[in-house]
Amino acid sequence: VSWTERLLASTTVGDDLRAPVSRMLEQQRRTWTLLAQGEASFAKIVSRSIEDGGSRVIVQSNPGRRVSTSAKVDPTSVAARPCFLCEKNLPTDERGVAFGDDLVIFANPFPIVADHLSIVSRAHVPQKIGGRVEEMFALARGLGPEMMVIYNGPACGASAPDHFHFQAGASNVLPITHDVRISTGAYVLLEAFGRRALVFRGSDARALALSVERAISSLGRVLEKSEEPMINIVASFERDQPTAYVFPREKHRPACFFATGEDQILWSPGALDMAGIAVIADPDHYDRVTSRVARAVYEEVSLSAESFRRWTEVLS
Ligand SMILES: [Zn+2]
Repeated sequence: VSWTERLLASTTVGDDLRAPVSRMLEQQRRTWTLLAQGEASFAKIVSRSIEDGGSRVIVQSNPGRRVSTSAKVDPTSVAARPCFLCEKNLPTDERGVAFGDDLVIFANPFPIVADHLSIVSRAHVPQKIGGRVEEMFALARGLGPEMMVIYNGPACGASAPDHFHFQAGASNVLPITHDVRISTGAYVLLEAFGRRALVFRGSDARALALSVERAISSLGRVLEKSEEPMINIVASFERDQPTAYVFPREKHRPACFFATGEDQILWSPGALDMAGIAVIADPDHYDRVTSRVARAVYEEVSLSAESFRRWTEVLS
C-alpha cells in the first residue's frame, strides 16, 4: 500500500486535528476488522478502583494487551522480528492522518483508553524523545483538551524500541490528573501511590518543552547514562495550559511479572500505568492487584528515592 493510499488527510503543527482524526476513526471502524474487534472487546473489559493515601488507580483486566505486555524488547529479539510499525508491514486496511512530514496518526486496535491512537514516524528510527517534546505538545494541542499524548521510553514500555512512536487517547479517565494541584510556572513533585514524578505546567508550550528536555538530560547526567534515561511522559493541554507528567523509572518490569504460579502478575507498566491505569493482561491475575501490591510495584519500578532526590537537586 502506498503512502498516498494510506493517508486519509494531511495536517501539520497548529491545525485542529479533531475533525480529521475523528473521520479517520470512523472510516477505520467500518473498514478495518481488527480495530472493530479490538474496540468491541475493549467495551466489555472489567475494571475497578483501588486507593492509597487519597490517590486512586484503576485496575483494568485487558487480555487484548497480552502481546504488547509480553513483547520481547531485548535487542536480539527486536532485530529478529519484522518491524510492525514500518509501513510495508502494516495491515492492508490500516489508514492514517499525516501530521507534518514525519508522523502519521493511526487507530490502535488494542485500546487501553477510548480513541486510542498510535502516532508513528514514517522512518524506521529508534525510540528517542530528545528534540521531540515540543512536537508532543503540538499534537496534544491539536488533538484537543479531551486527549493526551503518551511517550514510552525504549526500555520502559515501548513495544517497538526500534521505531519511533507516540500514543494518544482520551484523558478523561486518567486518575493522576486528580493527584496534582499546581499553578503555572515551575515543576512540582508528585508522590502518590508509590510513584515519584515531576509535573510541568506552564503557559508557553515551547518554553515548557525546553524545561522537560533539560530535565531529561539532567536525569541522564545524574544517572551517568549515555543513552536516554528510562522515562514515561504523558502530555496534555489542561485548561488551555500545556502539562507534562514525567515518570522517571528504575526498571521496566516488576519481579512479579517474572514470577510463577500464584505470585505472577502479567503487568508491564508504561506511561498509562504510571498515570493510574494498571493494565493487567491476564484476567486470572486481575484480583491479585490489591492496593498494597500496586503500591509495591509502583515503588519498585519508579526511580529510587535517592536518585530522585539527586535529580531534583540539580534541577532547582
Ligand atoms: Zn520500523
